This record gives sequence, C-alpha cells and structure tokens, in this order.
Amino acid sequence: MRPVLMNPNPGYTIPINMTTRKKAIMDGLKAYGIPLEAGNGTTTGTYNTQLVLNLLYQLTGANGGDPDWANLAPPGPVLVPTLILYFSTNTAMKYGNARGTLIDNYGEYCSYCGMPVQDSSLAVEHCLPKQVFPSVMLNYDNFFLSCPNCNSNKGAKPTWTDSFNWASFYNGTPTSVQDVMDGGMDRQMWPDSGETAWEGLPVVYWNVTSNSRLSNNSALDLGNQLAGVSQNIVYARIIGFAQPQAVAALIGTYGYNDPKVQATEDNFIAIVNLNQFEANNYSDRRVTNRTIVWLNCITSLRNLSKFTVGSEGWNLMLGQIFQTAKNAGFFEIWSWIFYTLYGPTTPVPIYNIFRTVSCDPTQPLYYFPGTDINDLPTQ
Ligand SMILES: [Zn+2]
Repeated sequence: MRPVLMNPNPGYTIPINMTTRKKAIMDGLKAYGIPLEAGNGTTTGTYNTQLVLNLLYQLTGANGGDPDWANLAPPGPVLVPTLILYFSTNTAMKYGNARGTLIDNYGEYCSYCGMPVQDSSLAVEHCLPKQVFPSVMLNYDNFFLSCPNCNSNKGAKPTWTDSFNWASFYNGTPTSVQDVMDGGMDRQMWPDSGETAWEGLPVVYWNVTSNSRLSNNSALDLGNQLAGVSQNIVYARIIGFAQPQAVAALIGTYGYNDPKVQATEDNFIAIVNLNQFEANNYSDRRVTNRTIVWLNCITSLRNLSKFTVGSEGWNLMLGQIFQTAKNAGFFEIWSWIFYTLYGPTTPVPIYNIFRTVSCDPTQPLYYFPGTDINDLPTQ
C-alpha cells in the first residue's frame, strides 16, 4: 500500500472541499480569460451559477469530488488545458507545491523506476494523468515523484480506455474514478516494495547476448562481475560463459497464474517503458543503472564474504554496502538479492539487518522514507 504521509507540508493545500475547489477553478478560468461571471464576464464579482455548476459537473461529478465513472465524460479540450495551466503556475494553488511533502515521504527517488534523482529533476507526477482525469488533478493521493524519463514515457497515459487495466488488483470493472485511483496507488516501483516491486514485479535477469533469461542461481553467483558499459549497454562476466555477455536487469511479471493480473502488469511496464534498453540511447539510463546496481550488489557481497560474519570489519563493510544501496537506488534489487542469498532462514543475517535498518526511523542507517517494514517478508 501507499505509505502514510509522514510529514505533511503546509505549503501544499489540497482544495478538498467544493467551496474551495469551485473558487480555485473560477479564479483559474478568470485568470485565463474564460468569462464565467454574470454579465458576460465583466467584473461584477458574481458567478454565472449555472455555468459554474455545469463546469463542476463535468469536472467532479454530482457528489462533490468522486464522480460516477459512467457519468464523467472527459471534459472539453479548451477547458482542461486552461485548468492545468492555472494549477501548474498559480503560486498558492499549484500542485507542484506537493513536491516537498512527496520527497519527505518517498525520498529523492523516482516512484516508477526507483532511480535516485536530484530534487530539482523530480517532477510531481499524476498517476492518473491530469489531462484525462482533471477531477483528481489536485489530489495528493494521485501524486508520485517521477524522473524525466518515466515522466515523458508515461505522458498522458493511462488513457481513459486503458485506465481499466492500469488500476491493478481489481478483477472486475472499476465503478468509479476513485476505484481507478485506488488501484493506481499501487502503480509504482518505489516505495511499494510489498505489493509491487517485491511480489508483483520481481527482477528478471536477462542475457541480451543470447536473448534468454538467466536463472537466479546464475545471475546471483558471487563470481559474476561487471565488465563494462558501452553505448549504454551493460556487459558482465557471468559464471559459465567464456565471454562477457550483454545483460539487463528487467522488471518481470513471471509466475502469475491469473492472466488478467499478468496483462495489467504488462500494461504498467509498457506504459512507463520500464524495460527499455537500447544501445546509444544515452538519455534513458533506467535499465542501465538498474543493471549496474545488480552487478555492484553482487560485487559488494563477494567482498563482504571474505570477512568473518559478525566481525567488526564485516559490520563496517555491511554498513557501507547499505549506504551504497541508498545512493544507488533501486531498492527492489538490493532487497531481493539480500533476501535470495542471505534471507531469514540462512545463517548470514544480511537481509534481516537490511530489513531493519532500511525501515526503522530510529536506526542510524534509516534512509528509505516511506518503506513499511511490514511490506518486507520475514521468512
Ligand atoms: Zn523513473
């Protein structure tokens, strides 16, 4: 589930009730020259009530914010860009004011791909796009943080049509925008390590050279090494192969028994383009960086294995590895590898320590805001 908002930022005020929202919409329309006031848009100070009501009907439905799915047609092409412009730029009302709160909650990571991104490059992303779902344009629950690549790939998707697929964990047809939004809250890689990155979308290690999947045993062998990165493609020495192989750590949806869930997850990956890796595509480092993190994690564990478990050197090095994990991002890679190789039932308690320090705000190595320790399995 989406983490609890831990540090609300008073700088972002959600126009939650109809009175506030109506005024905000009215002010926005006025600011961009759309006359809604009585007297043909002159400065009478009173609103054309019927016009406002019709407008709000379009935007929010009849019941004050949660429109009936069937009754909410996508609003008109002129109105929506006007509203978006207003709520992008109005100092007091813009949705961008939620960014500080989101960073407090998520850390400086992209919610979709898990990549660390500097504050200034993180966009306030609308899970349900504001162009298609203007009625949730200002709802905090509809916000994620996004890196430039995920943001541009996703664009105004999901569309009205494929939002049914986007809203995962629903086996039936969503009946309201709220239903779609509730499903949309699970549409992130980070920090939802419980339902999405952990169980729903495990990492799949791919041998690009032979176009085949690497088994976990092969991919996580401590003898593997990063060989180099060329033209944005990662090469690795993988145990069992004489030559370096081009490899990629992909977001997978293997193992589902339910074809609808499979289709939903495939839809998510395709919309955000989470598995895109192309030679010479230097603008998109998401898969490249995720793949490097896999191999760096293996290297770290190989080096750590030279120390006696629990010794001072081992503890020091483990702390450094966790610090590296924080800086490198892609939490699902680290947690998954720790769990697979040194999980709760193994004598080396790396996963258990990681689980604790990454999720407990009282620990000095706590560094993943929003991570719910209960999302990480204990066995
Ligand atoms: Zn991203």
